[in-house]
Formats: sequence, structure tokens, C-alpha cells
Amino acid sequence: MGLFTTAAQMRPIPRSTRFVNGAVSFWFREIGLPERRDPLPGSADYDVCVVGAGYTGLWTAYYLKKARPDLRVVVLEREFAGFGASGRNGGWLSAEFAGSRERYAESHGKGAMIALQRAMMSTVDEVISVAETEGIDADIVKGGMRLVATNAAQRERMVEDIEYLQEWGYWPDDIHLLPDDHGSPLAVHEAVASAYSPHAARVQPAKLVTGLARAVEALGVTIFEGTAVEEIRPRQGAARPAVVTEHGTVYADHIVRATEGFTSTLRGQRREWLPMNSSMIVTEPIPAEVWDKIGWEGREVLGDTAHAYVYAQRTADDRIAIGGRGVPYRFGSAQDKDGVTQPQTIAELWRALTRMFPDVADVPVEHAWSGVLGVPRDWCPSVHMDTGSGIGWAGGYVGSGVATSNLAGRTLRDLVLGRDTELTRLPWVGHQVRGWEPEPLRWVGTQVIYGLYRSADRRESKTPEEKAHTSRLAGLATRIAGR
Ligand SMILES: Cc1cc2nc3c(=O)[nH]c(=O)nc-3n(C[C@H](O)[C@H](O)[C@H](O)COP(=O)(O)OP(=O)(O)OC[C@H]3O[C@@H](n4cnc5c(N)ncnc54)[C@H](O)[C@@H]3O)c2cc1C
Repeated sequence: MGLFTTAAQMRPIPRSTRFVNGAVSFWFREIGLPERRDPLPGSADYDVCVVGAGYTGLWTAYYLKKARPDLRVVVLEREFAGFGASGRNGGWLSAEFAGSRERYAESHGKGAMIALQRAMMSTVDEVISVAETEGIDADIVKGGMRLVATNAAQRERMVEDIEYLQEWGYWPDDIHLLPDDHGSPLAVHEAVASAYSPHAARVQPAKLVTGLARAVEALGVTIFEGTAVEEIRPRQGAARPAVVTEHGTVYADHIVRATEGFTSTLRGQRREWLPMNSSMIVTEPIPAEVWDKIGWEGREVLGDTAHAYVYAQRTADDRIAIGGRGVPYRFGSAQDKDGVTQPQTIAELWRALTRMFPDVADVPVEHAWSGVLGVPRDWCPSVHMDTGSGIGWAGGYVGSGVATSNLAGRTLRDLVLGRDTELTRLPWVGHQVRGWEPEPLRWVGTQVIYGLYRSADRRESKTPEEKAHTSRLAGLATRIAGR
């Protein structure tokens, strides 16, 4: 995209005098970047070493220490707790689980996949309940999830998706189409249908992750920050599993890799999970008279049903935060440092926002940021503990990690402690998949996939109602993606 095109795209966007691009996220700007904890002081010995202080690593440490207070648990973090996607996300704490239901059912049966979906629903309540118990104020409101269709093809897909989900663990109360007069106004412009699920809550992500880090420390877990892990070494004969850092080596009986979108930066993991970008913008607080027109009193998390979909929330201080894919993938799994977002992505998100809420067009945008999430080759999340090597992991949540990481943490607790439980029998446990293709195939593939999804969205929005169907381009993209 040329400089002039970019400038032209940005011109209509009202930007706040306080506009910031990057700086990790608006969520951290709101609460202030945390003071850094000390780095690892030198080589050390623990029972469990967790790599990465996002939700996955912290939930794992939390549940382990709760179950076995005598365990010596350490968390090693390259930057600070919450620096990754856990401090940048859209704040949808939802029961959505990424990945092909059929694929999990193939290995474990349909009943097991349904159990996994039901476990995701109770996970939403589990996070809310722990936040309450631990005194973590993360602006949580369980208002459910609202999905909107803005053209006939999206509406058709929404109906099909609901029917599909109702075969895979959602009962009619768990997700359903809303009648026109459902009495909970949320005026999305051009919405032709909407669906609702009660299994979702809005959270302020950075408040959740920083509160969780404090709760974990209070239980006696040590978190070392500013400690980059270079390599994770499996058990070899009598040599214990080890985590090699610039400050020394940590030996432990179990090592949990909880680096999700950053996993490709670890030695030997380059083609493991693809680091997919997601980007967000947030407005200034929106005036009461505009809210009177929009509604959104229920604080539902809100999404559309486009192939290149967006997700949004009404924040505790009455802004709208909205996110979407932006530039999906950078060549060679490259990553931005602190969330600086390309102008065309900001422009795309603003267009999506003002298409949904034209009355917000005059409200300035105050912050834009991005982050990375992990995408496995088959787009199916997994959690695993290999008893031989002593190395476990969880992730590949494909953008639905806020709740899933909690389920992962409880599952890793059971796996580390060698317990056979309902959680360890869920079908994502031990799920393995091959790595991504080498470059340039990886980059070309993701460009083609997202190019096709965007073209499909454009076609669908222009197709007359009577001919509306999901565009074939989307089917092609899904086949290329191997989802
Ligand atoms: C913009 C955006 C919006 C999203 N919106 C939603 C949403 O609304 N709902 C939802 O369910 N999911 C959402 N997701 C996905 C969700 O945020 C993630 O799946 C989840 O936070 C992953 O948590 P994690 O702990 O596994 O990884 P992360 O939070 O990424 O944590 C990994 C940690 O590992 C650290 N690390 C990396 N490499 C090393 C190393 N070598 N040594 C030591 N430490 C290291 C990182 O600094 C980081 O702190 C979104 C993601 C993004 C980026």
C-alpha cells in the first residue's frame, strides 16, 4: 500500500489528541505498565518451571499451587506478566472453542467433544468465580455474547452455525437466534439477524492478567520477569528437563511451555504454531446521547459473522473497543515489539466500527494496538504433558484463548500431578499436529487465505438477498487453510 493511499485512508478517522499507537495495549495504558519483577538471579532447581506469564502459564501455576502448596513452582517471563496476548485481547471471556469438532471426535468420539464444549461453558463461570475469590477486579460483566449478521449470506451462515453447534454440545438455551422484538436493544446498523449465547463475559484483559499474577505470587509461586528463555531441554537419561535462559538454567521435573503466539521464537519450535496477528482500536468515551441510540446496556460481547470477522466490547468507561485480523501474518513469523499497528489496519477497523455504529463516526479513536496468537497447522488447540521428556504445553487457541487457557491450566495441573480426571480425558489432551510449511509457502498461504476470505465478504455483501449464499471463495480458503 502506497504512502498516499495510506494517508488518504487515515484522513477521515478522527483521532484523539491522546492517540497512541502500540505501547502494548490500551488496557495496560489504563492501569499503567507494571513495575518489573526481578529477573532469574542464576541457575536454580524447582519442581515445576512454567515458561511465559500469560493466562496459560499463570493459571497453570495457580491451580498447581492450590492443589499442592508444597510444590516449588517458578514462572519465567521474557518481558512482564501480561505482555503477550493476555494483556492485549478483546476481553471476550467466552465458551467458544476453536478447532474442528469432527477432528477431535474422530479420535475420541462425539460424546467427548460435547463434554469439552460443556467444560468450556463452565470455564467462563470458573474464571469469574476465581476472580471474585481472589479479589481480582477485572471489570467483569457476564452479559453473554451477541453475534450479528449484516447481509443475507451471513444470516444463512448464522442459522447453519447454530444448528451445527446444537449438535455439538450447545443446547437451544446456550445459543439461539434472537427474535426481532427480544427487548434487549443493541442497535447495530444494517444487522439483518442476531444470535445470543449467555456463555460469555466482558473482561478488562490487563486487569485480569495482572491480578492473576499477584494471586499466584501470594500463593508462593515465584515469577521472574525480564528473563528470556532460549531453549527448553527434555529429560535425557539422568539429566533433568531444563530451561536455558540468559541468566542461568532452571532444572525441574516438569516444564510447561506457555508461550502461545511467541512459540516460534524458541529454539526448535519455528514451525510449530503460526504467530497470527490480531489488532484493536478503542474510541474515547462515547457521550451518553450516542449510547441512548445504541443501547448495549447488557454489555454483551459483540461480534459479526463475516469471514474476516470483528469482535467488540463496551468498556467499563463507555468506550467501544473493536478488533479484527488486520495484517494476519508477517514473513518469517516476524513480530512487532509493542503492538504498533499499520495505518491500513486502523482504517479497516474504524470502517468496521462505523458501519456497525454510524453515530460513533465523530468519536475520536484513542488507541490502536496489536498482538499475536498461536495457530496450529490444523487450527485445533491442544494441551499436553509428555511424561518421558518432562515437557508439556497448552495453546494454539486460534483467537479464543481467554477462557480456554483456564481450562488448560486446570488440565495441566492434573497432568503434572499424574491424575486421571474428567479433564485429562477431554479430546484436546495430547492432540498433536504437524508443523507449518517452511517459508515462503507459509507467508504466501496466509496471504491467499485471508485475501480469499476478504473477497468472499465483499461478494457476500454485494449479492442480492434472493441469491445469497456463503461465497465459494470462503470454502476454498478454508480448504487451503486445512481447518
Ligand atoms: C488482539 C488480540 C485479541 C484477542 N481477543 C481475544 C478475545 O477477545 N477472546 C479470546 O478468548 N481470545 C482472544 N485472543 C487470544 C487470547 O488473548 C490468547 O489466546 C491468550 O491470551 C493466550 O494466552 P497465553 O498465556 O497462552 O499466551 P500469551 O498471553 O501470549 O503469553 C505468552 C507469554 O510468554 C512470554 N514469552 C514469549 N517468549 C518467551 C521466552 N522465550 N521466554 C520467556 N517468556 C516468553 C511472552 O512475553 C508472554 O507474556 C486475542 C488475541 C489478540 C492478540
